[in-house]
Amino acid sequence: MANLKQVTIVTIVILSFILFIFPAPDGTIYTVFRIFAFISITFLFFQSSIEVQKSEAPTTKSFALINNKPDNEELTDELRENYDRLLTVVFQMIIAINPEYKCATYMFDPASGGLVLQKSTFKEFPENISQEDPLCSSILNQDEPVLVQQAEAKENWINLFGEKTWRGSECMMGVRLMYHERPAGLMYHERPAGCMILLADHFKTVNERDKGILTYLGKYISTGINRLQRIERLVTEKDYHLRIANLFNTFGVKSDQNELFEKIRDLCRSFFRYDKLTITLSTGNGSQAVVKIVDGFKEDSDVDDIIEIENTLHGLPYTSGQIINSADWATKYSVKGRFIPGDSEQFKFNTILAAPIVKDNDVQGSIAVERTEINPFSDRDFALLEVLTETASSILSWQSEYDIMHKSAIHDGLTDLLNHKAYQERFVEELSRAKRFKQNLVLLILDLDKFKRINDTYGHLYGDYVLKDVAKILKESVRNIDICARYGGEEFAIVLVNTDIENARPVAERIIEKVAEYHFNKDGIEEHMTISAGMSEYPKNSTDGKTLIAHADLAMYEVKKNGGNGVIAHGDY
Ligand code: GH3
Ligand code: MG
Ligand code: MG
Repeated sequence: MANLKQVTIVTIVILSFILFIFPAPDGTIYTVFRIFAFISITFLFFQSSIEVQKSEAPTTKSFALINNKPDNEELTDELRENYDRLLTVVFQMIIAINPEYKCATYMFDPASGGLVLQKSTFKEFPENISQEDPLCSSILNQDEPVLVQQAEAKENWINLFGEKTWRGSECMMGVRLMYHERPAGLMYHERPAGCMILLADHFKTVNERDKGILTYLGKYISTGINRLQRIERLVTEKDYHLRIANLFNTFGVKSDQNELFEKIRDLCRSFFRYDKLTITLSTGNGSQAVVKIVDGFKEDSDVDDIIEIENTLHGLPYTSGQIINSADWATKYSVKGRFIPGDSEQFKFNTILAAPIVKDNDVQGSIAVERTEINPFSDRDFALLEVLTETASSILSWQSEYDIMHKSAIHDGLTDLLNHKAYQERFVEELSRAKRFKQNLVLLILDLDKFKRINDTYGHLYGDYVLKDVAKILKESVRNIDICARYGGEEFAIVLVNTDIENARPVAERIIEKVAEYHFNKDGIEEHMTISAGMSEYPKNSTDGKTLIAHADLAMYEVKKNGGNGVIAHGDY
């Protein structure tokens, strides 16, 4: 850059000399030459002023995750976008769990020594927090989420969130985010990198279960940050890596795994020269893997084939956790075959580059490129495959962690049925599906009879046990496509899709019978329960969800009036 500037200045001086000082003879050629010199000066001035502007432009907001490397700006932007998307997904999850939560994440800024706001859903979170802030230090020093109530930490609260009329019922929950480090020759090591904070206006809205979910989300962000950072560290060639990093962008946590493998195949096609590409995924039993993608030669192994991990070339990334790289593998590795022991004689492949897809120190899969001739893969190929598998690992682990988190967010902790909120969403979805395909649907609302007596007589634990077993009976009595939810305390809701009242009635009657016949038995205490149910049908009774619920509810109360243990459909009474 400095060189360019010097050349520019010298050129400007020479041109100015020719234009203004050099005794100018008359003639068209000199006029043309002067105009040319003038245009050149203007152009060079313009160029150098842009240079100055560029170098003086404010650097983007301090971002603890990714160091700015000028020659990789585009990639850095890409990773920054991925980081932003990671936080967006997490915030969406939090709001799905509880819409009252306001959330923010902070990361350490080495320059200021404090915490800098990364992203928030609420403008009143402070931009910067000092490292000595007592509330934040308590979060950073603990593995478990920290719960703080405004009324119990007034002074510290005001220090952090500022002076305003606090009601005293506000509370915050915070969890730390960790950097994972593995300095050369040392064991794996963790240190706090920042924190995530949730604010709620009323501590009553903070559910004990949310603490567990927050711990999980903290780990999710930490894993995400560390993976993005590792990918960034592996960056050497911008264009290739940009395309790999792009995988994140075109790939959501909810995307289909096969689609991911197809995208990886497309990248491999443009990155490497090979006779065969194989992507395998562990079957989970520790000794076998299944072929997910094959490109090129297919006679030796094809999609859905099972390969053996022990004693095979393609099993080596699994057993060693290392990248396998050899132009003549048969002399380098003492294995008994390529995909299964004894298969190497039939098809001659000499060169292989294969890398493991690792998640939590566990090999989940592998990507391998092979050549028939003895022709080694280059260092660049090695580095590219490393980044590619690293990225695939990240996407797969984000997906599986999202699944776990999502499951715990939409299910009821006690019965494992869908919780009320998730049920409402699914009910709306099913209604619009029924509308679209002109199908009918039956809503069943069920409530245990005299359940309070169980709690009062044997205690809450026995009551919980009854609820769990009733949930099991409900779940077993309906099809997989039906929705089974815990509606409230001892109330349940079932949506029987593509069914009318006539077909739903035997299902409901069977449930009521099963509950009545069930021997509840725990700690030597035997009990019997009955349940009451009400039904309504879409579109016969109403096309509106709320009305359908009200109708089913009223029908259920009608059963209660008659002593319970039965089912009535809307309109039957
Ligand atoms: P009815 O026949 O009219 O339905 O009477 P009921 O006793 O079943 O209904 P009521 O609404 O009077 O009582 C419901 C009880 O359910 C009260 C509440 O303590 C209990 N309950 C709600 N959630 C839970 C829970 O998660 N576990 C336990 N053990 N009990 C719960
Ligand atoms: Mg009841
Ligand atoms: Mg009830």
